[in-house]
Amino acid sequence: MQCGSNFLVVNTDLDATLLDHNTYSWRPATDALRVLKDRKIPLILNSSKTLPEMQDLSTELGLHDPLVCENGSFIAIPREGSFSAEEITSQFNSVEKIEGYWLCHLGVSRSQFLETITLLRSKHAAYDFRGYADWSVEEVAGHTSLPLEKAALSHQRNGTEPIHWHGTDAAFVAFKKELQEHNLKAVSGGRFIHLSGQSNKGQALLKLGELYEKKYGKVVSIALGDSPNDISMLDAADIAVVIPNKEKLSPTAKRVIHAKEHGPTGWNTTMLEILGV
Ligand SMILES: [Mg+2]
Repeated sequence: MQCGSNFLVVNTDLDATLLDHNTYSWRPATDALRVLKDRKIPLILNSSKTLPEMQDLSTELGLHDPLVCENGSFIAIPREGSFSAEEITSQFNSVEKIEGYWLCHLGVSRSQFLETITLLRSKHAAYDFRGYADWSVEEVAGHTSLPLEKAALSHQRNGTEPIHWHGTDAAFVAFKKELQEHNLKAVSGGRFIHLSGQSNKGQALLKLGELYEKKYGKVVSIALGDSPNDISMLDAADIAVVIPNKEKLSPTAKRVIHAKEHGPTGWNTTMLEILGV
């Protein structure tokens, strides 16, 4: 869709942004979602979730746009979507073909870095941790309180490795330093420590923005998010929409809008304003 002479691309976080924190419903954003669809504006879901966890929602929303999964560690671009294999492989260094999608890795893929961390663990007894790669689906269900079928979707990972650390704090500091030397990072979350490559949600927004720009001309990107793990995406956008939550975010984007209402209600009102409806 043209915005003036520009092509608009919307990037959104899911939990507590497009989806209600308690009910996981996007219904309060129905009006704005319909306008995006009518104007053929791409809507990029950009989340910490895995690809199988995001596919159902994408289908439910009737989207055929790329999905940014596992905190920006890779982008899943539909093979029957807007971009050809040539356009995708010329934009991304590491592209893998899977059923229905091109997986474009922005950092080191999980299968690559699992080898590195397994080697580090075997060399240092002090690096005492267990993670998704060690656990069965049943064990993941036990660690996450997810029902089995959801745990199975969460278990199918391509970009990040959530772990529990059982070693000392000093050993963890040493482990983190070694990860950095391998271009990897460890980020503490609520339930797990997440190991991944150095990519983030903002880098994914920029790489996808370039892909659209090559095809459709000057892109204006909008990003919506509520949490510290969204800040790279909000900083990288032309228009950042902060959905209110516990921590007050102050992105450095050129234009920052603070939604007044939480979750999909704030999403709807702010997007309709931006779209001039
Ligand atoms: Mg969120």
